[in-house]
Amino acid sequence: MSVNQAFINTLIKPEVLAMNAYKVADATGFIKLDAMENPYHWPSELTQQWLQSLTDCPLNRYPDPGARALSEKIKHCQKIPEHCQLLLGNGSDEIIQILLMALAPDACVLSPDPGFVMYRQISQSLSLNYCAVDLLSDSFDLDMLAMRKKITEQQPAIIFLAYPNNPTGNLFDTDAIREIIALAPGLVIVDEAYEPFADASFIQALKNHDNLLIMGTVSKLGLAGLRLGYIAGHNKIIEQLNKIRLPYNINTLTQATVLFALENKTIFQDQSAVICTEREQLFASLSQLSELQCFPSRANFILFKTLRHDANQIFQRLKKEKILIKNLSHQNQALTNCLRVTIGKTNENRAFMHALKKAFE
Ligand SMILES: *Cc1c(COP(=O)(O)O)cnc(C)c1O
Repeated sequence: MSVNQAFINTLIKPEVLAMNAYKVADATGFIKLDAMENPYHWPSELTQQWLQSLTDCPLNRYPDPGARALSEKIKHCQKIPEHCQLLLGNGSDEIIQILLMALAPDACVLSPDPGFVMYRQISQSLSLNYCAVDLLSDSFDLDMLAMRKKITEQQPAIIFLAYPNNPTGNLFDTDAIREIIALAPGLVIVDEAYEPFADASFIQALKNHDNLLIMGTVSKLGLAGLRLGYIAGHNKIIEQLNKIRLPYNINTLTQATVLFALENKTIFQDQSAVICTEREQLFASLSQLSELQCFPSRANFILFKTLRHDANQIFQRLKKEKILIKNLSHQNQALTNCLRVTIGKTNENRAFMHALKKAFE
Protein backbone atom coordinates (compact mmCIF):
# COMPACT_ATOMS: atom_id res chain seq x y z
CA MET A 1 0.00 0.00 0.00
CA SER A 2 1.53 3.33 -1.03
CA VAL A 3 0.31 6.61 0.39
CA ASN A 4 -0.56 8.40 -2.85
CA GLN A 5 -3.33 10.92 -3.54
CA ALA A 6 -5.82 8.21 -4.55
CA PHE A 7 -5.27 6.48 -1.24
CA ILE A 8 -5.72 9.76 0.66
CA ASN A 9 -8.92 10.45 -1.30
CA THR A 10 -10.47 7.18 -0.23
CA LEU A 11 -9.53 7.75 3.39
CA ILE A 12 -10.23 11.42 4.14
CA LYS A 13 -13.67 13.04 3.92
CA PRO A 14 -14.19 15.56 1.09
CA GLU A 15 -14.74 18.49 3.47
CA VAL A 16 -11.27 17.97 4.92
CA LEU A 17 -9.66 17.39 1.53
CA ALA A 18 -11.05 20.77 0.44
CA MET A 19 -9.68 22.63 3.48
CA ASN A 20 -6.44 24.57 3.81
CA ALA A 21 -4.45 24.17 7.02
CA TYR A 22 -4.34 27.23 9.28
CA LYS A 23 -1.02 28.82 8.31
CA VAL A 24 1.20 30.61 10.77
CA ALA A 25 4.00 32.74 9.30
CA ASP A 26 7.55 32.24 10.58
CA ALA A 27 8.35 35.44 12.46
CA THR A 28 12.02 34.80 13.25
CA GLY A 29 13.92 38.08 13.00
CA PHE A 30 10.76 40.15 12.46
CA ILE A 31 9.01 42.83 14.44
CA LYS A 32 5.98 40.66 15.09
CA LEU A 33 2.71 42.54 14.64
CA ASP A 34 0.60 39.80 13.08
CA ALA A 35 -1.09 37.79 15.84
CA MET A 36 -2.63 40.14 18.44
CA GLU A 37 -0.09 39.21 21.06
CA ASN A 38 0.68 41.47 24.01
CA PRO A 39 4.22 42.80 23.32
CA TYR A 40 5.20 43.23 26.97
CA HIS A 41 7.02 40.86 29.30
CA TRP A 42 6.63 40.63 33.06
CA PRO A 43 8.85 42.53 35.50
CA SER A 44 11.66 40.16 36.57
CA GLU A 45 10.48 40.21 40.19
CA LEU A 46 7.11 38.80 39.10
CA THR A 47 8.81 36.14 36.98
CA GLN A 48 10.76 35.05 40.05
CA GLN A 49 7.57 34.81 42.12
CA TRP A 50 5.91 32.83 39.36
CA LEU A 51 8.77 30.33 39.14
CA GLN A 52 8.63 29.99 42.90
CA SER A 53 4.90 29.27 42.74
CA LEU A 54 5.55 26.39 40.32
CA THR A 55 8.09 24.62 42.54
CA ASP A 56 5.52 22.40 44.14
CA CYS A 57 3.51 21.57 41.02
CA PRO A 58 2.90 17.81 41.07
CA LEU A 59 3.93 17.04 37.50
CA ASN A 60 3.81 13.29 38.16
CA ARG A 61 0.04 13.55 38.68
CA TYR A 62 -2.72 14.29 36.17
CA PRO A 63 -4.08 17.81 36.42
CA ASP A 64 -7.32 18.60 38.27
CA PRO A 65 -9.78 17.53 35.52
CA GLY A 66 -12.26 20.27 36.38
CA ALA A 67 -9.58 22.96 37.00
CA ARG A 68 -11.74 24.02 39.93
CA ALA A 69 -9.45 26.58 41.57
CA LEU A 70 -8.81 28.32 38.26
CA SER A 71 -12.49 28.23 37.26
CA GLU A 72 -13.48 29.89 40.53
CA LYS A 73 -10.81 32.56 40.04
CA ILE A 74 -11.98 33.33 36.49
CA LYS A 75 -15.59 33.47 37.63
CA HIS A 76 -14.64 35.98 40.29
CA CYS A 77 -12.32 38.09 38.11
CA GLN A 78 -14.76 38.30 35.20
CA LYS A 79 -17.79 38.88 37.44
CA ILE A 80 -19.59 35.94 35.88
CA PRO A 81 -23.11 35.60 37.36
CA GLU A 82 -23.34 33.09 40.18
CA HIS A 83 -25.81 30.72 38.49
CA CYS A 84 -23.54 30.24 35.45
CA GLN A 85 -21.10 27.42 35.00
CA LEU A 86 -17.73 27.52 33.31
CA LEU A 87 -15.94 25.20 30.92
CA LEU A 88 -12.23 25.71 30.23
CA GLY A 89 -10.49 24.92 26.96
CA ASN A 90 -7.00 24.62 25.52
CA GLY A 91 -7.46 28.09 24.05
CA SER A 92 -10.92 29.29 23.04
CA ASP A 93 -10.25 27.54 19.74
CA GLU A 94 -10.75 24.24 21.54
CA ILE A 95 -14.00 25.51 23.02
CA ILE A 96 -15.29 26.36 19.55
CA GLN A 97 -14.42 22.79 18.55
CA ILE A 98 -16.18 21.33 21.61
CA LEU A 99 -19.32 23.40 20.93
CA LEU A 100 -19.45 22.31 17.31
CA MET A 101 -18.75 18.66 18.06
CA ALA A 102 -21.81 18.61 20.31
CA LEU A 103 -24.20 19.60 17.49
CA ALA A 104 -26.46 17.33 15.47
CA PRO A 105 -24.85 16.31 12.11
CA ASP A 106 -27.06 18.55 9.95
CA ALA A 107 -26.88 21.60 12.23
CA CYS A 108 -26.37 25.08 10.84
CA VAL A 109 -23.68 27.38 12.26
CA LEU A 110 -24.14 31.04 11.48
CA SER A 111 -21.69 33.90 11.76
CA PRO A 112 -21.14 37.35 10.26
CA ASP A 113 -18.49 37.67 7.55
CA PRO A 114 -15.70 38.82 7.61
CA GLY A 115 -15.29 37.13 10.97
CA PHE A 116 -13.03 34.86 12.96
CA VAL A 117 -11.79 32.11 10.63
CA MET A 118 -11.98 29.27 13.15
CA TYR A 119 -15.81 29.31 13.21
CA ARG A 120 -15.82 28.36 9.55
CA GLN A 121 -12.72 26.18 9.60
CA ILE A 122 -13.92 23.93 12.45
CA SER A 123 -17.51 23.81 11.16
CA GLN A 124 -16.23 22.55 7.82
CA SER A 125 -13.92 19.99 9.37
CA LEU A 126 -16.95 18.60 11.21
CA SER A 127 -19.11 18.64 8.05
CA LEU A 128 -21.58 21.09 9.58
CA ASN A 129 -23.59 23.51 7.51
CA TYR A 130 -21.71 26.82 7.93
CA CYS A 131 -23.63 29.91 6.92
CA ALA A 132 -21.92 33.31 6.58
CA VAL A 133 -23.88 36.56 6.59
CA ASP A 134 -22.07 39.54 5.06
CA LEU A 135 -21.48 42.58 7.27
CA LEU A 136 -22.46 45.99 5.92
CA SER A 137 -19.70 47.02 3.56
CA ASP A 138 -18.75 50.46 4.87
CA SER A 139 -19.10 50.16 8.63
CA PHE A 140 -18.65 46.40 9.12
CA ASP A 141 -21.80 46.58 11.23
CA LEU A 142 -24.32 43.75 11.38
CA ASP A 143 -26.71 43.73 8.45
CA MET A 144 -29.84 43.08 10.49
CA LEU A 145 -32.11 42.60 7.48
CA ALA A 146 -29.85 39.81 6.27
CA MET A 147 -29.32 38.41 9.77
CA ARG A 148 -33.08 38.17 10.49
CA LYS A 149 -33.69 36.52 7.13
CA LYS A 150 -30.90 33.94 7.53
CA ILE A 151 -31.81 33.13 11.12
CA THR A 152 -35.41 32.50 10.11
CA GLU A 153 -34.47 30.47 7.04
CA GLN A 154 -31.60 28.42 8.45
CA GLN A 155 -32.64 28.04 12.12
CA PRO A 156 -28.98 27.97 13.24
CA ALA A 157 -28.06 25.79 16.21
CA ILE A 158 -25.25 28.22 17.00
CA ILE A 159 -24.61 31.85 16.12
CA PHE A 160 -21.09 33.18 16.76
CA LEU A 161 -20.62 36.91 17.33
CA ALA A 162 -17.12 38.17 18.08
CA TYR A 163 -17.40 41.29 20.24
CA PRO A 164 -15.21 43.16 19.20
CA ASN A 165 -15.07 41.45 15.83
CA ASN A 166 -11.85 40.04 14.37
CA PRO A 167 -10.52 41.10 11.83
CA THR A 168 -12.57 44.31 11.61
CA GLY A 169 -12.01 45.53 15.21
CA ASN A 170 -15.45 47.09 15.75
CA LEU A 171 -18.08 46.38 18.38
CA PHE A 172 -21.40 45.39 16.86
CA ASP A 173 -24.44 47.40 17.92
CA THR A 174 -25.68 46.30 21.35
CA ASP A 175 -29.36 46.41 20.41
CA ALA A 176 -28.67 44.34 17.32
CA ILE A 177 -26.96 41.67 19.43
CA ARG A 178 -29.85 41.69 21.90
CA GLU A 179 -32.30 41.21 19.06
CA ILE A 180 -30.24 38.29 17.71
CA ILE A 181 -30.21 36.63 21.15
CA ALA A 182 -33.99 37.00 21.36
CA LEU A 183 -34.54 35.75 17.81
CA ALA A 184 -32.11 32.82 17.88
CA PRO A 185 -33.69 29.35 17.92
CA GLY A 186 -30.41 27.98 19.34
CA LEU A 187 -27.34 29.20 21.18
CA VAL A 188 -25.64 32.57 20.73
CA ILE A 189 -21.94 32.64 21.53
CA VAL A 190 -20.57 36.11 22.19
CA ASP A 191 -16.79 35.74 21.74
CA GLU A 192 -15.06 38.35 23.91
CA ALA A 193 -11.43 37.53 23.06
CA TYR A 194 -10.65 41.29 22.95
CA GLU A 195 -12.55 42.25 26.09
CA PRO A 196 -9.34 43.54 27.79
CA PHE A 197 -9.23 46.37 25.23
CA ALA A 198 -12.92 46.93 24.55
CA ASP A 199 -14.41 48.34 27.73
CA ALA A 200 -17.62 46.50 26.85
CA SER A 201 -19.02 43.07 27.63
CA PHE A 202 -22.18 40.98 27.51
CA ILE A 203 -21.32 39.03 30.66
CA GLN A 204 -24.09 40.61 32.71
CA ALA A 205 -26.62 39.69 30.02
CA LEU A 206 -26.08 36.06 31.05
CA LYS A 207 -28.51 36.83 33.87
CA ASN A 208 -31.39 37.30 31.43
CA HIS A 209 -30.72 34.90 28.57
CA ASP A 210 -30.37 31.14 28.97
CA ASN A 211 -29.34 30.62 25.34
CA LEU A 212 -26.41 33.05 25.64
CA LEU A 213 -22.86 31.89 26.27
CA ILE A 214 -19.86 34.18 26.73
CA MET A 215 -16.47 32.99 25.59
CA GLY A 216 -13.18 34.51 26.70
CA THR A 217 -9.45 33.83 26.57
CA VAL A 218 -6.27 34.93 28.29
CA SER A 219 -4.41 34.92 24.94
CA LYS A 220 -4.88 38.53 23.93
CA LEU A 221 -4.47 39.70 27.52
CA GLY A 222 -0.85 38.55 27.42
CA LEU A 223 -0.78 34.78 27.95
CA ALA A 224 -1.12 33.41 24.43
CA GLY A 225 1.53 30.76 25.10
CA LEU A 226 -0.47 29.11 27.87
CA ARG A 227 -3.53 28.25 25.75
CA LEU A 228 -6.44 28.93 28.03
CA GLY A 229 -9.95 29.91 27.07
CA TYR A 230 -13.27 29.69 28.89
CA ILE A 231 -16.97 29.74 28.21
CA ALA A 232 -19.67 30.70 30.68
CA GLY A 233 -23.35 29.84 30.47
CA HIS A 234 -26.31 27.83 31.65
CA ASN A 235 -25.26 24.73 33.62
CA LYS A 236 -27.49 22.43 31.52
CA ILE A 237 -25.52 23.42 28.41
CA ILE A 238 -22.07 23.33 30.04
CA GLU A 239 -22.93 19.89 31.41
CA GLN A 240 -23.38 18.54 27.86
CA LEU A 241 -20.19 20.21 26.58
CA ASN A 242 -18.25 18.68 29.46
CA LYS A 243 -19.03 15.21 28.09
CA ILE A 244 -17.03 15.98 24.96
CA ARG A 245 -14.14 17.81 26.61
CA LEU A 246 -11.08 15.60 27.01
CA PRO A 247 -10.62 14.91 30.73
CA TYR A 248 -7.28 16.65 31.26
CA ASN A 249 -7.40 19.34 28.60
CA ILE A 250 -5.86 22.06 30.79
CA ASN A 251 -2.39 21.04 31.88
CA THR A 252 -1.05 21.56 35.40
CA LEU A 253 1.41 24.32 34.43
CA THR A 254 -1.29 26.29 32.62
CA GLN A 255 -3.70 25.96 35.55
CA ALA A 256 -1.07 27.13 38.04
CA THR A 257 0.28 29.91 35.83
CA VAL A 258 -3.05 31.46 34.87
CA LEU A 259 -4.09 31.33 38.51
CA PHE A 260 -0.88 33.13 39.45
CA ALA A 261 -1.34 35.67 36.66
CA LEU A 262 -4.91 36.46 37.70
CA GLU A 263 -3.73 37.01 41.26
CA ASN A 264 -1.47 39.67 39.76
CA LYS A 265 -4.07 40.97 37.36
CA THR A 266 -3.23 44.66 37.73
CA ILE A 267 -0.07 44.24 35.68
CA PHE A 268 -2.13 43.02 32.73
CA GLN A 269 -4.70 45.74 33.21
CA ASP A 270 -1.89 48.31 33.15
CA GLN A 271 -0.42 46.76 30.01
CA SER A 272 -3.85 46.73 28.33
CA ALA A 273 -4.31 50.41 29.16
CA VAL A 274 -0.94 51.22 27.54
CA ILE A 275 -1.89 49.17 24.48
CA CYS A 276 -5.18 51.12 24.18
CA THR A 277 -3.27 54.44 24.34
CA GLU A 278 -0.84 53.18 21.70
CA ARG A 279 -3.81 52.08 19.58
CA GLU A 280 -5.26 55.60 19.60
CA GLN A 281 -1.87 57.07 18.66
CA LEU A 282 -1.34 54.59 15.85
CA PHE A 283 -4.89 55.18 14.61
CA ALA A 284 -4.23 58.94 14.52
CA SER A 285 -0.99 58.42 12.57
CA LEU A 286 -2.61 56.04 10.11
CA SER A 287 -5.56 58.40 9.62
CA GLN A 288 -3.18 61.05 8.31
CA LEU A 289 -2.12 58.92 5.36
CA SER A 290 -4.20 59.60 2.27
CA GLU A 291 -3.05 56.28 0.79
CA LEU A 292 -5.27 54.29 3.12
CA GLN A 293 -8.56 54.05 4.97
CA CYS A 294 -8.36 52.78 8.53
CA PHE A 295 -11.20 51.35 10.59
CA PRO A 296 -11.81 52.34 14.23
CA SER A 297 -10.90 49.53 16.61
CA ARG A 298 -11.89 48.46 20.11
CA ALA A 299 -9.35 45.62 20.04
CA ASN A 300 -5.53 45.46 20.09
CA PHE A 301 -5.18 45.69 16.31
CA ILE A 302 -6.15 48.02 13.50
CA LEU A 303 -7.55 47.03 10.12
CA PHE A 304 -6.73 49.27 7.18
CA LYS A 305 -7.28 49.25 3.46
CA THR A 306 -4.88 50.51 0.83
CA LEU A 307 -6.68 52.84 -1.59
CA ARG A 308 -4.14 53.28 -4.37
CA HIS A 309 -1.75 50.37 -3.89
CA ASP A 310 -1.94 46.62 -4.06
CA ALA A 311 -2.00 45.52 -0.40
CA ASN A 312 -0.02 42.38 -1.27
CA GLN A 313 2.82 44.57 -2.48
CA ILE A 314 2.70 46.78 0.63
CA PHE A 315 2.72 43.65 2.79
CA GLN A 316 5.81 42.34 0.98
CA ARG A 317 7.60 45.69 1.25
CA LEU A 318 6.96 45.73 5.01
CA LYS A 319 8.35 42.21 5.20
CA LYS A 320 11.52 43.36 3.47
CA GLU A 321 11.84 45.89 6.30
CA LYS A 322 11.46 43.01 8.76
CA ILE A 323 7.94 43.97 9.82
CA LEU A 324 5.35 41.22 9.88
CA ILE A 325 1.66 42.17 9.87
CA LYS A 326 -1.33 40.17 8.56
CA ASN A 327 -2.37 40.21 4.93
CA LEU A 328 -6.13 39.66 4.72
CA SER A 329 -6.47 40.62 1.08
CA HIS A 330 -7.21 37.07 -0.09
CA GLN A 331 -9.30 35.97 2.87
CA ASN A 332 -12.53 37.53 1.78
CA GLN A 333 -14.00 39.67 -0.99
CA ALA A 334 -14.88 42.37 1.54
CA LEU A 335 -11.25 42.46 2.70
CA THR A 336 -9.65 43.12 -0.69
CA ASN A 337 -6.56 45.28 -0.10
CA CYS A 338 -6.97 45.00 3.68
CA LEU A 339 -4.10 44.56 6.11
CA ARG A 340 -4.22 44.15 9.88
CA VAL A 341 -1.58 45.41 12.27
CA THR A 342 -1.37 44.38 15.92
CA ILE A 343 -0.53 47.13 18.41
CA GLY A 344 3.08 46.68 19.55
CA LYS A 345 5.45 48.63 21.75
CA THR A 346 5.94 52.34 20.98
CA ASN A 347 9.18 51.75 19.06
CA GLU A 348 7.65 48.85 17.11
CA ASN A 349 4.65 50.95 16.09
CA ARG A 350 7.01 53.73 15.01
CA ALA A 351 9.10 51.30 12.97
CA PHE A 352 5.88 50.05 11.36
CA MET A 353 4.70 53.58 10.49
CA HIS A 354 8.13 54.45 9.09
CA ALA A 355 8.23 51.32 6.93
CA LEU A 356 4.63 51.84 5.79
CA LYS A 357 5.28 55.39 4.59
CA LYS A 358 8.35 54.12 2.76
CA ALA A 359 6.31 51.30 1.22
CA PHE A 360 3.84 53.83 -0.24
CA GLU A 361 6.63 55.77 -1.99
C1 LIG B 1 -7.69 35.11 18.88
C2 LIG B 1 -9.12 34.80 18.90
C3 LIG B 1 -9.61 33.65 19.52
C4 LIG B 1 -8.71 32.50 19.89
O1 LIG B 1 -8.18 32.60 21.10
P1 LIG B 1 -7.37 31.40 21.76
O2 LIG B 1 -7.89 31.40 23.14
O3 LIG B 1 -5.94 31.83 21.65
O4 LIG B 1 -7.64 30.12 21.05
C5 LIG B 1 -10.99 33.46 19.61
N1 LIG B 1 -11.83 34.35 19.07
C6 LIG B 1 -11.41 35.45 18.44
C7 LIG B 1 -12.40 36.39 17.85
C8 LIG B 1 -10.04 35.70 18.31
O5 LIG B 1 -9.63 36.76 17.62
